[in-house]
Amino acid sequence: MDLFEYQARDLFEKHGVPVLAGAVATTADEAFAAASKMGGRVVVKAQVKVGGRGKAGGVKLAENAEDAREKAAAILGMDIKGHIVHQVMIAQAAPIESEYYLAILLDRSNRTFLVMASVAGGMDIEEVAKTAPEKLAKVPVSAVDGISVAKAKEIIAQAAFPADVAEQVADVLVTLWKAFAAEDATLVEVNPLVKTSDGKIIALDGKVTLDENAEFRQPSHEGLVDHSATNPLEALAKEKGLNYVKLEGQVGIIGNGAGLVMSTLDVVAYAGEKFGGMRPANFLDIGGGASAQVMADGLSIILGDKDVKSVFVNVFGGITACDAVANGIVAALATLGSTATKPIVVRLDGNNVEEGRAILNAANHPLVEQLDTMDGAASRAAELAAK
Ligand code: GDP
Ligand code: MN
Repeated sequence: MDLFEYQARDLFEKHGVPVLAGAVATTADEAFAAASKMGGRVVVKAQVKVGGRGKAGGVKLAENAEDAREKAAAILGMDIKGHIVHQVMIAQAAPIESEYYLAILLDRSNRTFLVMASVAGGMDIEEVAKTAPEKLAKVPVSAVDGISVAKAKEIIAQAAFPADVAEQVADVLVTLWKAFAAEDATLVEVNPLVKTSDGKIIALDGKVTLDENAEFRQPSHEGLVDHSATNPLEALAKEKGLNYVKLEGQVGIIGNGAGLVMSTLDVVAYAGEKFGGMRPANFLDIGGGASAQVMADGLSIILGDKDVKSVFVNVFGGITACDAVANGIVAALATLGSTATKPIVVRLDGNNVEEGRAILNAANHPLVEQLDTMDGAASRAAELAAK
């Protein structure tokens, strides 16, 4: 999960990374109030989860609270690389003398953590890496050792930070590591880390990604989720414990096992080409224990998607045999009653397939059609979606 800058700022503050005062505002009047309270010059910053806000006009210096109101009014509603600005942060302005770059990230390909440090901060770090790679120090950090003061000094020396800030920057790096580890982050990036005219080192911008796999031991992270950005069907699926991802197409998909569902998406997209480009409407893996309740939950989410025109249930019976799945489908349709309105193509195979198919035949539900093969069923589901 990526955080907004103001959330990263709060998190930095909590762990002792030096930051300036900051407050979030959703209207120009709130921006005025926050700037009045702060006093003096402030920076009005668009809160969108995308980089390069400065260049896009989403970061503006304001001389006073009245000016902050005007700048906020201009920035709110702005479209920055497809992200609409709904909030701005009012931040105390800093007199910048130099801009540096620090980041700690999970380096998956090398199975370690990585620190990146540069005295060429404030600009696009990808650009620095390309045009002046000697200015970007990259130092692996082991999860066990972390970043001690000695390690931090080594990194700062390698990146050739000026002597007058070396100690302060090393301290910030040690603190950033503590924050990174304590919060189960996979990325903490500070760009720019600035030296102010009075020689202080401050994190002026923060980008933080938290590891969602750690949410079981990070209860406070729930409060950082931006619910307005979650698809409502995905939110409902999550509530029901289903593995669901909304896609753009018209054929609803239910399958058991992530691999089978992934290949079902491919087969449906391929079959759909013959029917005007019908495509899968979602990913939904109901897992191994395809109980009636899980099937009903899955079907009701898919049928609740207004883009869905037909449904393809593709199940390979394993530990949960086909007869159990077939009973699940019948029970699910009984539960859903008249809310089930779209044609459902079912392909069962694997353990107890004959019993499963017999159960569906006996139920003779008007919406359900059975096919024996995955390709045949995909094609029929795409055809029905196109009708
Ligand atoms: P980004 O463009 O999305 O990375 O947004 P940043 O928060 O990094 O801001 C972009 C640039 O705005 C920074 O590199 C600074 O040059 C400038 N900036 C941000 N905050 C301040 C501030 O408090 N004072 C001054 N003078 N400039 C600032
Ligand atoms: Mn930045």
